[in-house]
Amino acid sequence: MKRDSRSAAVTDSDQRRQLARLRFDGTLEMQFRRHYEDSTMTARVTVLILGMTLIALTPLYDGWLLQAPDAFRKISRLLQFGVQIPAIALALFITLRAGLRRWSVPATLGCSLITACGLMAQHIIGRSYGFNVPHDFAAITIAAMLIMGRIRFWVALPWATLTMTVTSAVAIDTIGRDAIYDIISTWMLFSIASVSSYLLEHSARQSWYRGRLLELQATRDSLTGLPNRRHFDLELRKLVREGVRQKRNVALLILDIDAFKAYNDHFGHPTGDQCLRIVGDWLATSVRRPQDFAARLGGEEFAAVWFDANPGDALRLAEQLRRGIEDLAIVSSPAGDSVVTASGGFAQIVAPSPQESPDTLTADLIKRADSALYAAKRAGRARLIASELA
Ligand code: GH3
Ligand code: MG
Ligand code: MG
Repeated sequence: MKRDSRSAAVTDSDQRRQLARLRFDGTLEMQFRRHYEDSTMTARVTVLILGMTLIALTPLYDGWLLQAPDAFRKISRLLQFGVQIPAIALALFITLRAGLRRWSVPATLGCSLITACGLMAQHIIGRSYGFNVPHDFAAITIAAMLIMGRIRFWVALPWATLTMTVTSAVAIDTIGRDAIYDIISTWMLFSIASVSSYLLEHSARQSWYRGRLLELQATRDSLTGLPNRRHFDLELRKLVREGVRQKRNVALLILDIDAFKAYNDHFGHPTGDQCLRIVGDWLATSVRRPQDFAARLGGEEFAAVWFDANPGDALRLAEQLRRGIEDLAIVSSPAGDSVVTASGGFAQIVAPSPQESPDTLTADLIKRADSALYAAKRAGRARLIASELA
């Protein structure tokens, strides 16, 4: 997690606008889509199994209950068991298979269209045998895909509208004016399904967005926008675990601004806050590789973590970071003759063996960096001290 909390905070009206048009701005939309496709997978599995079961039960009512003509039943069975059920089974397979899952939405959409077309074909063929297969079965399929399939509204709507239009045209063509009442009722069903689909996605977006904000608030420091202590603890433990698994180094720098109490006393708390923000910006922009991160541990204490860096490189980066605070040239005395400095304690885990406990290694890493920081303070501040290599 990099420092993006300030850019992630959008105004209420922006958020309402994005929710209303069912589209977030930028990368947020991609994150939501990934989440939505994963979280609606069970819904798609359910609707696919339901659809397959209902089609498989057709012989019970068109043969047994309604005694449809044999010739019609033969063609129907071919469509149902040769086309519709295999199409749904394929979509189900794709949805359940981890490696194919990203095709689950197109597959569900595709099989619902194939099912709807099959139903329309049965309607047309049925009429030529004097047997009525209601054309609104196709609308029911579309409604199921919209509401239960949880396919994103803007993806499903064009296909659903096209299917409904074709279905209605076929009904007019085969039945004539008598179909109008039925067509109106299928469009009512379609409108209800579309609005429900919109509202479902709207509320899914709203709760995802709120959850994300809460998560950001729980893991971010509101003053600097950097990850907070909680995030630091979790993320460092995760990186050390990864380091132990892959035998990779993990380096930690703890930085503490020198004489910050005096700075606050001279310039006031708001200026102190501003100084912390500037230091936070410097750290955030300087620690750039994806697994590395900077954090505010609390007060005027910060940390930086490097994953898989050579011991010498990590120490050099740590000193650059500490020295960079001095180079920011934030005046620290009323006379203007000194600048804000920081002391640093540095420690690293080098090539850990898989036998070592990640939790013990993490606790020890923090303890060593902390002791090194304490030593730097005692040695006169404005310097970096590295603990012995582990
Ligand atoms: P040392 O060089 O030994 O680190 O001395 P110090 O004065 O920096 O350390 P000390 O722990 O005595 O004081 C830390 C100061 O940091 C005191 C506190 O008011 C200030 N501080 C902590 N958090 C904040 C904050 O969020 N904003 C501001 N403006 N000041 C803060
Ligand atoms: Mg301090
Ligand atoms: Mg301190």
